[in-house]
Amino acid sequence: MEIALMDVPFLSLKDVNARYAEELKAAAARVIDSGWYVLGEELAAFEREFANYCGVRHAVGVGNGLDALSLILRGYKELGAIEEGDEVIVPGNTFIASFLAITENRLVPVPVEPDPATFNMDPAGVEAAIGPRTRAIMAVHLYGQLADMPALAALARRHNLLLIEDAAQAHGAASAGNKAGAFGEAAAFSFFPTKNLGALGDGGAVVTRNDVLAERIAALRNYGSAVKYHHLFQGLNSRLDEIQAAMLRVKLKYLDEDIARRRQVAQRYRDGIRHPHIQLPAVAREEQHAWHLFVVRCSRRDALQQHLQAHGIQSQVHYPVPPHKQPAYAGLQDAHLPLTERLHDEVLSLPIGPTLSDDAVDRVIAACQAFECPP
Ligand SMILES: *Cc1c(COP(=O)(O)O)cnc(C)c1O
Repeated sequence: MEIALMDVPFLSLKDVNARYAEELKAAAARVIDSGWYVLGEELAAFEREFANYCGVRHAVGVGNGLDALSLILRGYKELGAIEEGDEVIVPGNTFIASFLAITENRLVPVPVEPDPATFNMDPAGVEAAIGPRTRAIMAVHLYGQLADMPALAALARRHNLLLIEDAAQAHGAASAGNKAGAFGEAAAFSFFPTKNLGALGDGGAVVTRNDVLAERIAALRNYGSAVKYHHLFQGLNSRLDEIQAAMLRVKLKYLDEDIARRRQVAQRYRDGIRHPHIQLPAVAREEQHAWHLFVVRCSRRDALQQHLQAHGIQSQVHYPVPPHKQPAYAGLQDAHLPLTERLHDEVLSLPIGPTLSDDAVDRVIAACQAFECPP
């Protein structure tokens, strides 16, 4: 008799957090017993530890990744570096949050096409998109792989632009000892539970070397106030809770180990999947990829996804519709981004995570190899 195999989950958050359950519970108990739940010692400690991990001077914990991105732009507006109506160059193929942060600040997103191999921002395309109102480049380290930061930094210097990183998918990706978050003027991280460093709820952080920007964002996230009931700016309420900061302090200790395991999984896929119709992800340099997602490309993506599902393997699409084709951005529908649009029809994310077993990876590989691509 055949033994029914368990499905291979795309990512089991339960398994991810079960590894540290005792430490997480102890940290939660510490916060519960402290009687202090917002803007306290856990957050201050996490901010120090995360800034140190990224190799920058400041980390400011906020409510989520979108707010982190948005607060960077808001901070620059308040400091006079950007004005309403200015343009920010952004990858056409990114999560909608990158666009929302721009438009929320009444700035104009200028989407550009990706490099066809890495799916990350193509510096030549960025340069061609620079105009008189361009003030910033928002680089996204898509799927966990660093964008070409040396080339983008050179462009930003030459044209006097701000370079901002959307590092929501790239905690721990590194190049020549520099980590994601340390390349631009400022970077945004998300600690959404599925990210490489995930809280047990929402969370985010801005990291920056810029003292003035860090101070402004720290005030903006807390009603525009540095001293209670004295409001210097029209801020908002977007803080990283003590409980989440305590969870993240536990998980940050294991982030590098988790990324090492993600790399092993990715390597196993890259060695094992040899299929004429499944294109493996291109890797610029190994250490530059934190493998948040393992994304293959297939002209019959939907058929491949159904085939994997029939073999009990979950997969996801990041993302099915690009921001400029979303109803929310009706004004951008005319943008001409053929490669971006094609990628959204062809990309498929295979299961990856720090708790995925070698057996599960082998089952995914075998199922991919057995895919009979329809004409
Ligand atoms: C997850 C993500 C965000 C937003 O983070 P949230 O914490 O969910 O608000 C922004 N940009 C990218 C590229 C992301 O993947």
